[in-house]
Amino acid sequence: MSKTWYPVIDYEKCTECGVCTYKCSHGVYDLKKVPTPVVLMSENCIHGCRGCGKLCPSGAISYLGDSMMLNNHCDCSCENGGGCCG
Ligand code: SF4
Ligand code: SF4
Repeated sequence: MSKTWYPVIDYEKCTECGVCTYKCSHGVYDLKKVPTPVVLMSENCIHGCRGCGKLCPSGAISYLGDSMMLNNHCDCSCENGGGCCG
């Protein structure tokens, strides 16, 4: 869980394809707003996870707290199950 790491959407770049909202298995995005990515539960985001950002075709996702990262380790506990980090 993280309140210091979560996606920030650049709506100038976002094409509302919805890929990021489908990718996240942690309930960070508001599913009622799909395909528009709206961060609803930022505290559910896994520190260091870049799963949604890696898939964004528009480069519209950055992460609050990114500049504070000391390494690229993802704390996600579903690394082998949920696949959110891939
Ligand atoms: S996919 Fe990862 S980085 Fe993106 S919102 Fe979900 S937990 Fe956070
Ligand atoms: S993957 Fe990128 S372009 Fe697609 S909805 Fe998410 S932020 Fe927007």
